Amino acid sequence: MSERPRLTVLSGPSGVGKSTVVAHMRKQHPEVWLSVSVTTRHPRPGEQNGIHYYFVDNDEFDKLIANGELLEWAVFAGNRYGTPRGAVLEKLDNGVPVLLEIDLQGARQVRESMAEALLLFLAPPSWDELVRRLTGRGTEPQDVIEKRLEAAKIELAAESEFDTTLVNTSVEQVAAELLALLGAA
Ligand code: ADP
Ligand code: 5GP
Repeated sequence: MSERPRLTVLSGPSGVGKSTVVAHMRKQHPEVWLSVSVTTRHPRPGEQNGIHYYFVDNDEFDKLIANGELLEWAVFAGNRYGTPRGAVLEKLDNGVPVLLEIDLQGARQVRESMAEALLLFLAPPSWDELVRRLTGRGTEPQDVIEKRLEAAKIELAAESEFDTTLVNTSVEQVAAELLALLGAA
């Protein structure tokens, strides 16, 4: 690949459908490389270590920060999340396009450190639909849902910081749009 591979960031409020859209796209295009983040949050039922996240405790997360092993990291709704630097740089060096699914604070850090990154914002069709999706997922207790909705207000207000907005009305359609933007279609 002669062109420099692209780092693409997908952000958007919790519950908007980021994981669903990315999973749908990767079912048809498993060659798209998605970074696996590190988190201090506990696994949801069905989530596997090393596949959905690397689940670590606070001490391990501290060490990753201290050793400069994270490309970016943030506190989101009471837990820490970060992108392992080594794997991302290795993929980019090898010409593989990289996708990060991270929050607004992480997207801002990537913008600072990698100006050429493409920042995509996944928006809900409406606020009420976002609340329905986040609640309907049934993976968080009410107090955590409320924290995530507070964060969602801040994330939605930052939409203009992103290069492109995709509205998640149809999973199939957004997955196709994402694939095209990744340059993999
Ligand atoms: P995120 O990764 O952004 O937190 P999820 O992918 O977990 O969000 O999706 C949250 C909920 O919304 C899930 O129950 C998912 O099935 C549902 N969902 C995702 N996209 C759509 C869509 N386009 N229409 C209806 N429901 C959706
Ligand atoms: P969840 O707990 O629902 O899996 O993720 C919560 C939020 O953390 C989502 O907005 C998700 O995109 C974000 N997130 C996941 N991994 C990372 C990461 O490595 N860095 C940052 N900054 N945010 C992340």
